[in-house]
Amino acid sequence: MPRRTVRAVLTLVMVAAAALVGTSAVAIAAPERAADGCFTWNRDLAEGASGDDVKQLQIRVSGYPASGEVIAVDGEFGPATKAAVSRFQQAYGLSASGTADAATYDKIYELQDDDCSPAHFDFGELNNCNSDWSGGAVSAAEAKSNALRTMWKLEAMRHALGDEPLRVTSGFRSKACNDQVGGAPSSRHLYGDAADLGSGPHSLCTLAKEARNRGFNGILGPGYPGHDDHTHVDHRSGKYWDAPDCGVTS
Ligand SMILES: [Zn+2]
Repeated sequence: MPRRTVRAVLTLVMVAAAALVGTSAVAIAAPERAADGCFTWNRDLAEGASGDDVKQLQIRVSGYPASGEVIAVDGEFGPATKAAVSRFQQAYGLSASGTADAATYDKIYELQDDDCSPAHFDFGELNNCNSDWSGGAVSAAEAKSNALRTMWKLEAMRHALGDEPLRVTSGFRSKACNDQVGGAPSSRHLYGDAADLGSGPHSLCTLAKEARNRGFNGILGPGYPGHDDHTHVDHRSGKYWDAPDCGVTS
């Protein structure tokens, strides 16, 4: 090796060593965050924050709104998001600060699979008619993303009801599939955000009542035509609750 090259290599090694020292100093100041297969948060999030990481957080806490409310998934961390983060923390025995911090993210990582679905639900479960999410009232990508939000709400509902399994009997439907099962022409199942829940271990009324606290604008259940054998939940834009036999009306 020519001497000049040796010197250059030595210089590089020294620069690299200095950089390493710098890196470890930074690592001490900010503890390393756990990486996750779906999404990794790199900062604490508090009221006033905005960005895609806020949006990702909102999806995960969308099952923790004030009763009857819906958390907007808009990337803006406002008071409703703060309250939802607080309720999520409380539900899992964490300090309810309303700021998403490392402990909050660790709980979310524990709850989510690498495909971003919550631990106790999966995309296949919300799509029993059509495997590629196309053919509905929205694009396949939108239908799938709607289903993801619904699953996080269901995860919150499952946890609130004592961590016992919920039975999803229908989710996203293409138009062809919706016609086949006799769904309403404007059914939310065409949008991917609806889920039908069967009874056992919970009664249909227990499910309909709990859905009011979990961010579902649409709730149809016992007493509503065609809904005596399941409780339907969705996140349509306006509130429509109708499960009269359960006392659930909007
Ligand atoms: Zn339905």
